[in-house]
Amino acid sequence: MRRDETQSGSAAGRRRSAATQRSLGGHEGAVAGSRGAATRFNLVGVGATSARSRARLVDEVAAKGIDHLDVLDALAAVPRHIFVDEALNHLAYQDRALPIGHGQTISQPFTVATMTAVLLDVPRRSVLEVGTGSGFQTAVLAQLCETVFSVERVQPLLLRAQERFRAMRINNVQTKLGDGYQGWPEKGPFAGILVTAAPRATPRALFEQLAVGGRMVVPVGSGGAQELRVYDRTATGFAEQVMDAVRFVPLVKGLQP
Ligand code: SAH
Repeated sequence: MRRDETQSGSAAGRRRSAATQRSLGGHEGAVAGSRGAATRFNLVGVGATSARSRARLVDEVAAKGIDHLDVLDALAAVPRHIFVDEALNHLAYQDRALPIGHGQTISQPFTVATMTAVLLDVPRRSVLEVGTGSGFQTAVLAQLCETVFSVERVQPLLLRAQERFRAMRINNVQTKLGDGYQGWPEKGPFAGILVTAAPRATPRALFEQLAVGGRMVVPVGSGGAQELRVYDRTATGFAEQVMDAVRFVPLVKGLQP
């Protein structure tokens, strides 16, 4: 039953993905109702931010071992330069993390691709992301899932991310200013949960909000010593796998004052 549900979710996601890609081609994103946001972002890009630069980045990520074609397509569809400050635009298509203010970073594209590919080993209809940050990972997930729910504790980051979703005409993302340690109980259970900041231990609320058959990907640990963990919820409990070492900013309790 659940498998059928996720399959049909996937088909919808694919259609949406194609539509999004079309909407991004060949215009500057002048969208009725969101003109302010649209004119602030050049969705098409030029030079270091052009579609060609984006394609090179996707090739680089693929060469590093990502073979999930839908994930590579999603990466190609999202203009990363609009998720960083204009002053860093020329670095947006290098495979590296970049600062986004408030002591936070936009993740390295290879890390985004790895986590997305692991999370979406099968299509998943509803996904909770903890740590919206720039919104880049959110936008990648939005290409592949029916609905993405994303929670962020730093209000200015969240507002800026929302502006980017509007400019890109991404309509299948719901966001909330909140503490990701609590998840988003009203919207769960989720077929997938992706945590993009590192807790010392996986928050209990997130286990509770993972659907049976669902998968959670979370970097666990402190300082430089984190490991990427993957939990699959079965009818009887949770199966855990430990993947590569990763480096994320810490998951911090409570809202930013
Ligand atoms: N996915 C983001 C990664 C941003 S870095 C991107 O692609 O840009 C991690 C983010 O997690 C930061 O924005 C940070 O503010 C946020 N964060 C940290 N602790 C949090 C918490 N308890 N709840 C929600 N967000 C949190």
